[in-house]
Amino acid sequence: MESSIGTVPQQQAIDLLRRIFGYSEFRGAQAEIVDHVSNGGDALVLMPTGAGKSLCYQIPALLRRGVGVVVSPLIALMQDQVDALAELGVRAAFLNSTLSGVEAASVERQVRAGELDLLYVAPERLLSERCLNLLEQSRVALFAIDEAHCVAQWGHDFRPEYIQLSILHERFPDVPRIALTATADAQTRAEIVERLQLHGARVYVSSFDRPNIRYQIVEKLNARKQLLDFIRAEHDGECGIVYCLSRKKVEETAAFLMENGIDALPYHAGMDSITRQKHQARFLRADGLVMVATIAFGMGIDKPDVRFVAHLDLPKSIEGYYQETGRAGRDGMPADAWMTYGLQDVVQLRRMIAESEADETFKRVSSVKLDAMLGLCESADCRRKRLLNYFDESTASDYRCGYCDTCLSPPASFDATVAVQKLLSCIYRTGQRFGAVHVMAVLRGDVGGQSGERIKQWQHDQLSVFGVGHEYSETEWRALIRQCLALGVIDVDHDAYGAIKLTDDSRAVLKGERKVMLRELRKPVRTVKSSRKTFDSELNSVQQRCFDSLRDWRLGAARQHNVPAYVIFHDGTLREIALRQPDSLEALQAISGIGAKKLEAYGLELLKVIQVSETI
Ligand code: ADP
Ligand code: ZN
Repeated sequence: MESSIGTVPQQQAIDLLRRIFGYSEFRGAQAEIVDHVSNGGDALVLMPTGAGKSLCYQIPALLRRGVGVVVSPLIALMQDQVDALAELGVRAAFLNSTLSGVEAASVERQVRAGELDLLYVAPERLLSERCLNLLEQSRVALFAIDEAHCVAQWGHDFRPEYIQLSILHERFPDVPRIALTATADAQTRAEIVERLQLHGARVYVSSFDRPNIRYQIVEKLNARKQLLDFIRAEHDGECGIVYCLSRKKVEETAAFLMENGIDALPYHAGMDSITRQKHQARFLRADGLVMVATIAFGMGIDKPDVRFVAHLDLPKSIEGYYQETGRAGRDGMPADAWMTYGLQDVVQLRRMIAESEADETFKRVSSVKLDAMLGLCESADCRRKRLLNYFDESTASDYRCGYCDTCLSPPASFDATVAVQKLLSCIYRTGQRFGAVHVMAVLRGDVGGQSGERIKQWQHDQLSVFGVGHEYSETEWRALIRQCLALGVIDVDHDAYGAIKLTDDSRAVLKGERKVMLRELRKPVRTVKSSRKTFDSELNSVQQRCFDSLRDWRLGAARQHNVPAYVIFHDGTLREIALRQPDSLEALQAISGIGAKKLEAYGLELLKVIQVSETI
């Protein structure tokens, strides 16, 4: 539907942006989208997390007559979303299964009376005849379908109810619809258009780059200790998420962090739902809490001030990795995506795929995705470039972001052909029936301990390859084997419990027809020290004190209003206040994130905090 010969002028939109939300300008495609939807057009919006999707429907909902209906599967978040809007003076409510009959009836009455600007609804609720009737009797400004990728049947977040949302088009043909997602790939996009009948919608695709996130992938030595060092050095007292593969590891890691003085909580699907909800609620509200979780945690974690996302285990795909790391830094302030990764991860994931009950197609797709993930880990290229290219976003051939780990400390590569040949012969001579630990022991000529015994038992000390690789330490062999796995020069045996075996590509290497270049093995892989000074303008000591006082004040205000701290003000807003030290209400109003309602509610208190902090 072409409709941008606007009946709603753009000036009204920008006025609302400034007055209600306290932001001075639209970002990226926001202005265009707001204009298009305000004037009745359908839209499909693909933007990365944190780019500002919400405003794309919130402002049109305020500009158009009637209530904007937001469909979202994330019912746990609706309360906070509604609270945040209330803080801005926007009339919002939600309908989902957490409401009592009386509460729901009251919301329905408000909808009928035209007293709401925005209504958040769970999809199954919206699809009920009762709710559809209610909306037919009311005036609907627009439908926003959030997390629209949930309609994709092969996606990881598939929700069957989403498919039925096409009914909106049939029952409300004149109401504009805007579907939004942070999932980028073309197949998902096509599925959204098809299933939600958005053929006439204008499609807005933003860059998926998250410039405020710094990517780092470090070699796994002692993962927990590395994590602790990383948190202490870079994120003391800040919020973060640590992802682990297993429930057990989640529990252990959370306990370890707590023993070491880091405020941490576990979260996984094996915990009872009340504890899980309690932990999630604490995380959303707390100011400096680390959540240690399996990937069961996170879908729709809207907390803007997550300063780091750490992976202690290798994710299964780049999609998963990008989505999980994307939960860091939604507020646009500097944030870290940090991961430790080792040989064991590769072997374990390859085995999990091989041993799964899934059909061959699924296994093949999973393997390809894992290989892409490994490619990212072993890359000597800029990590960001790799990520963007994976999502079909082209970059200049010499593009370097300048602040991921490989940009900051480019790994050298060396000709590893001879070492790899030794490895391949060793695998071959031992019958392709042993795991990496045994193969390394043979290569290094170990005679002691358990490995030594096993070697004697199999008479592998009689082989010509015994000890031919003594020039490398075990750590170095691990790095080498890992890279060979990533390159496909060797593979994990599907039938033999994690044994490593040769592949079609091995032969060329063994025959000397193919050279193998690998990342340097000896270089100690350290976490890149923060280059915050360039990444983030530093506060001086007075400003820092002011920032700390503002955070303390915010905590009190949040408790008083029973909302998460960020609902009062985002870190970025407090930081800007600390930097600029405004001394009047007018000066405060110029700060990004302070709209009319918040100025009225908190302006004087803020000025007091600023004044007092100057005198400490
Ligand atoms: P998404 O839903 O795309 O992940 P959000 O809508 O939650 O992102 O927005 C992310 C953050 O960016 C929020 O803190 C929001 O208030 C802020 N934001 C959005 N648009 C703007 C803008 N035009 N100017 C300043 N901040 C903005
Ligand atoms: Zn880079």
